[in-house]
This record gives sequence, C-alpha cells and structure tokens, in this order.
Amino acid sequence: MTLLECPLCGGTATSHSGLCKPCETGLPRPVHPCERCSCELPVDGPWQRHCESCLLSPPGFDHCLAAFRYEFPVRELIAGFKFQADFALGRSLAVLLAERLRTSCDNAGERPVLVPVPLHEGRLRGRGFNQSLLVARVLAAQCAMPLATRHCERVRATPTQRGLGAGERQGNLRGAFAITQPARVFPHVIIVDDVVTTASTVSEIAGLYRRAGSRRVDVACLARVS
Ligand SMILES: [Zn+2]
Ligand SMILES: [Zn+2]
Repeated sequence: MTLLECPLCGGTATSHSGLCKPCETGLPRPVHPCERCSCELPVDGPWQRHCESCLLSPPGFDHCLAAFRYEFPVRELIAGFKFQADFALGRSLAVLLAERLRTSCDNAGERPVLVPVPLHEGRLRGRGFNQSLLVARVLAAQCAMPLATRHCERVRATPTQRGLGAGERQGNLRGAFAITQPARVFPHVIIVDDVVTTASTVSEIAGLYRRAGSRRVDVACLARVS
C-alpha cells in the first residue's frame, strides 16, 4: 500500500480528504456564520442570526453552505488549485465540503441538483478548466447527487468584479447567465462555487433559477469571504 503525502506538511495523509489529521482539523472553519449567506458575524457584537446585508436586502438564494473561511491557508490552497492547476488540493477541500453537505441535506425533501457556476468560454480556454465544475463533480460523487453541467451557461463575458461595489457588481452581471434548457425545471438547486465573495454572482444565478420555477435554491462553496 502506498502512503499518500499530505500536500500541506509532507506528513502521511491519514484522512479521507488526502490531508493529515492535524492539517485537516487546523483549517479555518466557520465560527459564527450568518444563517443565510454564511459570512462571519462579529463574535463580540449582539447575538444575531443574520448579517445586516441579508436583513436589508436578502440574497437570491435560500442558504449558503461554506466549508471554510477564506483565510490562510485555505486562501493559498484555493489559489494553488485555481492558478497552478493543483487538482489534489481542490479535491481535498471539495471532499471536506461534501462531508458538510451530506449532513446538511439529510432531511431535505427534493433531491437537489448541483449546478456549477459557469465560466465564460474565453476564461475557460485561458485556464483550461472550470474550478467550480471540478468541485461539483466531487460533490456529486461523494453525496450521490445529480450534476447539471451545461444547464446554466455564461452567455456574456463580464469585466472583473474586483474593485466594484455591491450594486455595481449586480449591474455588471445582469444578463451574463442563461438557462439552456428552460423546460427542465429543478425543484431544488444547489449552485456550486469555489469562493463566494459578495454573493452577487450566485445571487444572480439563483434569481434565474427562481424565475425558471425552482422552489429552493441553495449555494455550496469551498470558502466564504467575510
Ligand atoms: Zn499535514
Ligand atoms: Zn448574511
């Protein structure tokens, strides 16, 4: 039997995720996430279930599940996965997200369909792969959920969202996505993304699915930026 090496410390990988146990337990998990969008709520503030932003203008989805906080070393692991095509890192994080998704979906009614956030053709050619699709494939295999790969497509390239405010981001994304087979309605959708930053992308796609007849739209991501 060959022993796998933990990609973080070089020790022996002892866990299902391909990491060693100490590295796995040391990853930054959510502490006090908003029950809707999963951003971290201040630990020293008054007790609340939802963040201000969800209370003032609720996002298009019902619930966002994040495996980790977007902090060291998760941030660096995701960068290795996305920009250096280190698929073992992506798989490790996706397996840990799958564990959380399985426990959170145990009593859900309709079987959810996984929809990865699509990349525009140009971006896809540049990078060579869609990281959200790779995460969704791991979730589909580990949680035995159907995966809809080309049901939602990016029909318009959008300038980078970096440096834009929430309102500008939403405007920037309008009309960027489309559902390719509107006749196929999924009652419960889980949108899969690698990192959720302001939630405007996943909110835009969630709105599209709601208008197409989905009753429940959730989000699952490796990490949530707070
Ligand atoms: Zn390790
Ligand atoms: Zn929130």
